[in-house]
Amino acid sequence: MPDPDTLTGPQLEGWDCALCERRLVADQLLGTVEWTCGSRTRKVELWVCRPLCGDGDGSDGA
Ligand SMILES: [Zn+2]
Repeated sequence: MPDPDTLTGPQLEGWDCALCERRLVADQLLGTVEWTCGSRTRKVELWVCRPLCGDGDGSDGA
């Protein structure tokens, strides 16, 4: 699961893929992570490309 500290705002909002940062057109839920921002912890849903990116197609999701 990606570290939410490394994700951008749009990734945390579910607009961009949490893995490859591309704008999502067709998406799927990757999972929920706890993201600590300052002293508050939120649960955020991470959305990724559908079909899943970075799964054998050579793209690097780092
Ligand atoms: Zn993606």
